[in-house]
Amino acid sequence: MKGPEYSVIELLDRLVSFDTTSHKSNVALIRFVEDYLLQHGVVSQLVPNADGSKVSLYATIGPENVAGVALSGHTDVVPVVGQQWTSDPFMLTERDGKLYGRGTTDMKGFLACMLAAVPDYVNRKLQVPIHLAFSYDEEIGCLGVRPMIAEFGKRLTMPRMVFVGEPTLMTVVDCHKGPVRWHVTIKGRAAHSSMAPLGVNTITVAGKLLGEIARIEAELKEAPQDARFDPPYATMQVTKITGGTATNIVPVQCTMDFDIRALPGVDIPAIDRRIRAFAADVCLPDMKRVAPEAAIDIAIANQVPPFAAGEHSEAVALALRLAEQNETHAVSYATEAGLFQTGGSPSVVVGPGDIAQAHTADEWIAIEQLEKCSAFLTRLGEWAEHGSAVR
Ligand SMILES: [Zn+2]
Repeated sequence: MKGPEYSVIELLDRLVSFDTTSHKSNVALIRFVEDYLLQHGVVSQLVPNADGSKVSLYATIGPENVAGVALSGHTDVVPVVGQQWTSDPFMLTERDGKLYGRGTTDMKGFLACMLAAVPDYVNRKLQVPIHLAFSYDEEIGCLGVRPMIAEFGKRLTMPRMVFVGEPTLMTVVDCHKGPVRWHVTIKGRAAHSSMAPLGVNTITVAGKLLGEIARIEAELKEAPQDARFDPPYATMQVTKITGGTATNIVPVQCTMDFDIRALPGVDIPAIDRRIRAFAADVCLPDMKRVAPEAAIDIAIANQVPPFAAGEHSEAVALALRLAEQNETHAVSYATEAGLFQTGGSPSVVVGPGDIAQAHTADEWIAIEQLEKCSAFLTRLGEWAEHGSAVR
């Protein structure tokens, strides 16, 4: 089947024109991708969310039911609200070899390169299939990719490896930190501040918890470091705290958010247990003595696993070969790679553009980066056609 052939820039122009800010639907973009693939004879499998407003797409070029190389990217972008843009963020604009638009770097540029490679992949007799994976809600905690990964080995073929095309300037990233966010709600009892013993002051309780968090933070800093990361240890801190209603009332409620940026190997369940135990054993008994209804609710609001490909990763070896690089890098931002890896598919991060431009006003990607990525994807097609040995 001979479908339309568009350049990377034409495809990026289309992708940018869909406003897929995370809180909006990505269905129109996914329909466009589905149609485009179908015109090339490639059938997509969709994984919609509960109300159908967001959809992931998974498609395979080449032999079916064979584990291949998945190219993966998220379709959502961060908001432009409050940012000063020189040109319309949802209209691709070229100036001096740079393409401006929301998502050009993070990460519709990679998606455009993926789609532009489709006619070439379809024309080849691929021995190893190439899967295309499009997710949603990455920017709000890597949420949309999880139901898709849950279908791997069931409705969807489990990839042999996954290339996540987040911006790395086409270098090969084999590890990143993983953010974990907690939300704490402390309920006490209000009283006139002159009658403090009748109340349970939730801000005082938050202070105790904060102390324990600071102790864990210090321990993480003292733990064995990993020089590949900046900073070279797991960070932990309280990021938000809200409590109290008036200066003369014992505060009845206080909420607190804290996060860890974990290095691969940090024992998150152990830290979670320690904080819960501190709340239950140190804070709660005193609170309950005054007010039996007092409570401390601790919940993990979001967790993205850290990513470490490991020393003998086939995905890393292949990515290095295709990217014509000989060393790997570590980054501090999180991607879907850790989730793919935990889901059973060895992963690696390699994609066009610079993370420094991601999420900014006047986000741009250099055309030269897209060309590098397309060359990488062409080499992937050659490899997938002529044999599957990696080393
Ligand atoms: Zn991204």
